[in-house]
Amino acid sequence: MNLITQHADWLYLIAAILFIFTLKGLSSPTGAIAGNRYGMVGMALAVLVTLVIAPSPNLALIAIAMLAGAGIGIYRAKTVPMTQMPETVALMHSLVGLAAVLIALAAVHNPEQAHSTVQRVELFIGCFIGGLTFTASIIAWGKLSAKLAAKPLRGGWVKPAQILVAASMLGFGAHYFVTESLTSFWIMTGLSLVLGYFLIAPIGGGDMPVVVSMLNSYSGWAAAGIGFTLGNSVLIIAGSLVGSSGAILSYIMCKAMNRSFISVIFGGSMGGDEAAAVGEVVQKPYKSGSADDAAFMMGNADSVIIVPGYGLAVSRAQHALQEYARALIDKGVNVRYAIHPVAGRMPGHMNVLLAEAEVPYEQVQEMEEINADFSNTDVVLVIGANDVVNPAALKDKSSPIYGMPILEAHKARTVIVVKRSMSAGYAGLDNDLFYMDKTMMVFGDAKKVVEDMIKAVGH
Ligand code: NDP
Repeated sequence: MNLITQHADWLYLIAAILFIFTLKGLSSPTGAIAGNRYGMVGMALAVLVTLVIAPSPNLALIAIAMLAGAGIGIYRAKTVPMTQMPETVALMHSLVGLAAVLIALAAVHNPEQAHSTVQRVELFIGCFIGGLTFTASIIAWGKLSAKLAAKPLRGGWVKPAQILVAASMLGFGAHYFVTESLTSFWIMTGLSLVLGYFLIAPIGGGDMPVVVSMLNSYSGWAAAGIGFTLGNSVLIIAGSLVGSSGAILSYIMCKAMNRSFISVIFGGSMGGDEAAAVGEVVQKPYKSGSADDAAFMMGNADSVIIVPGYGLAVSRAQHALQEYARALIDKGVNVRYAIHPVAGRMPGHMNVLLAEAEVPYEQVQEMEEINADFSNTDVVLVIGANDVVNPAALKDKSSPIYGMPILEAHKARTVIVVKRSMSAGYAGLDNDLFYMDKTMMVFGDAKKVVEDMIKAVGH
């Protein structure tokens, strides 16, 4: 124990380096498992050192909290379906925010602790970022899990309301800073909770991926704020790593979706007139065929690009799809998978599914790598994807997804779309791709359709 206390800073440094290795590992599918392990070891070390060096910790209370947290965490990790990961992540961010608020409140109410001017600024920043992360994450969770309407909050009053709440919150924070008034601190905390609502409510469901990664960043900064409050260096480092990596990911996703980074950070409207366009699926003529027809067309093609989307994840068709692709490759067809950065319900969702089915990495291509090849491709198989292949994003200025880069499936010679009905995708929009002369719809659950296609290849 004494040894740990003497070398606490060095042990924290080792934990911080392990966290950096974690991020490095998580940046590629091949390193992800090792990355996770580094994170687990780093976190175990950080917790152990903190317990040893803490002045008179209440070990019984800490053990109860850790056991309860670990129990809920293990249960949730084992049972959560992949498609519910984004809302689960949003819920976890809310807890980080809440922890920051509770620690700040405990610190300002601690009669034995005088706070210097610098500490008052740290408390204020940690608490307000934690507060807005808490409510913003709850709203994001509600929208992602369809417990709240995905429709964005709109109206001329929204921006002024955001500014008023933000300005009042800063005002009460400044008053606390000068006078140490606890009432002002509480009002500031309440206003930060309201601001969290106003940050996320104006953002529509289709833009939630960016919001989730932005909240990830906020939760990191909130944790760093707690680190300052507690004088804990590893928490400051870990919080900053999460904060900055989340901010970089948000920036990359904004670029991928052609959204303004600044407007996301400050909770602005992100797309076109989302409220107006959502939910209108007009009846138009389209062609449909069977799994056998689709298998026949692909079996006779030279090149096939598979575009997976959310529906693939829902029906867990990735293993069957991989088997089908292998059968096509055995017949001499050039088969590749095209991945859109926001296909599915979380960043990297499709990469994870395909890796799970052991699809070779060289067959998997990102949007920028493959988009130019669609026009030279015989057949595109769109399986459970919708928004990420919607040409309205390129052509229709009034569309909420206008400006978002898409996989240009509509440029291929033939398009086969597998889904259960003509209903809209996540953004609630109709998709002109489905009505093109060269498109054949194959209706059914993705897994069932692919299994039928595998049988057809065997004929
Ligand atoms: P979409 O949600 O746009 O479309 C998925 C399609 O799959 C639906 O149209 C649905 O049609 C079909 N489908 C659902 N279940 C099945 C099934 N069992 N078998 C076959 N088809 C099925 O998915 P995309 O991947 O194209 O786009 C992702 C959307 O999600 C984007 O709008 C993105 O912004 C958003 N998003 C992405 C996140 C991320 O980080 N990746 C996070 C949150 C949102 P039908 O009902 O007719 O079967």
